[in-house]
Amino acid sequence: MAIRTIREMGDPVLNKISKEVKEITPRVQDLIDDMFETMYEANGVGLAAVQVGVLKRIVVIDTGDDPILLINPRILEVSGEQTGNEACLSVPGKTGSVTRPHYVKAVAQDEELNEFEIEGEELLARALIHEIEHLDGHLFVEKVEGPLMDVEMVEEEA
Ligand code: ZN
Repeated sequence: MAIRTIREMGDPVLNKISKEVKEITPRVQDLIDDMFETMYEANGVGLAAVQVGVLKRIVVIDTGDDPILLINPRILEVSGEQTGNEACLSVPGKTGSVTRPHYVKAVAQDEELNEFEIEGEELLARALIHEIEHLDGHLFVEKVEGPLMDVEMVEEEA
């Protein structure tokens, strides 16, 4: 396993559309292992493959409960609303308020490409939407209401 370099806003790869994963090759398995390691090392709650420069539809999430791997994820259903500060490993040191659904249901494939459904509320719902949007080339900064703030400033206010 290895820590990979996280691409930052301004890197054009982050605006590209990731491709469907059709086969779990050893190379894809290494990528998945590295994504988890890279996310944990950076203290993130989610990471999409595009953020380490690989245009594959793979997402890893850990909101503190269990590691979640999502291959070729799609949103099936959303409901409700939550507004709160969001951040991204590709936009280091910044945060901004984003309104997201309170509940999200998605379908994805696991490491054997078996399909499963996942439901989340609150932080997990936010992470699911945020990470799946990365796969279509979107960053949360497009949705920030009000200013994009320095994390340090927000922490001082709190
Ligand atoms: Zn992100």
